[in-house]
Amino acid sequence: MENIARILEINQVTHDVKSFKIEKPSGYSFIPGQATDVSVNKPGWEKELRPFTFTCLNDQPYLEFTIKRYADHKGVTDQVHRLNVGDGLIIRDVWGAIAYKGPGYFIAGGAGITPFIAILRQLHNDNKLQGNKLIFANKTSADIIYKKELTNMLGNDFINVLSKEHPLSQNGNTLLPKNSGYRYGIIDEAFLLKEISSFSTHFYVCGPDKMIADINGILKKNGADPEQVVFEK
Ligand SMILES: Cc1cc2nc3c(=O)[nH]c(=O)nc-3n(C[C@H](O)[C@H](O)[C@H](O)COP(=O)(O)OP(=O)(O)OC[C@H]3O[C@@H](n4cnc5c(N)ncnc54)[C@H](O)[C@@H]3O)c2cc1C
Repeated sequence: MENIARILEINQVTHDVKSFKIEKPSGYSFIPGQATDVSVNKPGWEKELRPFTFTCLNDQPYLEFTIKRYADHKGVTDQVHRLNVGDGLIIRDVWGAIAYKGPGYFIAGGAGITPFIAILRQLHNDNKLQGNKLIFANKTSADIIYKKELTNMLGNDFINVLSKEHPLSQNGNTLLPKNSGYRYGIIDEAFLLKEISSFSTHFYVCGPDKMIADINGILKKNGADPEQVVFEK
């Protein structure tokens, strides 16, 4: 099934991420964490399909995607970021990316947060967030998608890890204070052993393939059985 859905609203989320609210076809529904294959309704782009996750709630009257642009790929994300309100996206049937099975640890890298956005928003809406923790890895603080909202939802259960920013290094024009609340480096075994109180719980991991392979290796070694989605090769 293909539907052309007009863009209703576009918001800049970070320097290279935008959210797109689009029309919701009648009868269309999804479970938080699910995705669909999207293409741009412009000549030559209709058949270039890429998967994107819904970041809205299913009971909202629109659909929303939150999309990171890879300008150097000259592909679909670059095209999507050139679109305006009123332009069309072609969406298709929904398919499962990652499903919530119960409280646990969400570990995301970059745009890998998107399936967790839908899941966490739904849990927050249902007052069922308790017992979940989010560990979110990014290169710099400027890359953190929906930082304010995630902080409001999760409080101390939201841990930000930055790989390319050091507490005392210059980040654009901002010198980060020493006690900025960020962790610095990568999510390695020492980090996970410190942060995770029990490996007998649910783990949801989403991000670039190398990050997923590394983290899953550590989780499995410690007895966990993670749910995972690879976002980038
Ligand atoms: C289930 C699932 C859900 C997803 N949901 C989301 C989401 O909600 N939001 C989101 O932002 N992302 C999401 N992603 C990731 C998203 O699908 C990719 O970022 C997207 O497919 C990239 O499309 P693109 O056409 O811009 O680039 P690509 O398809 O990666 O690349 C296009 C072309 O660029 C070239 N290329 C590839 N890599 C490079 C490189 N490093 N440098 C230069 N050129 C290169 C290649 O020739 C390639 O054919 C999801 C992925 C999956 C699997």
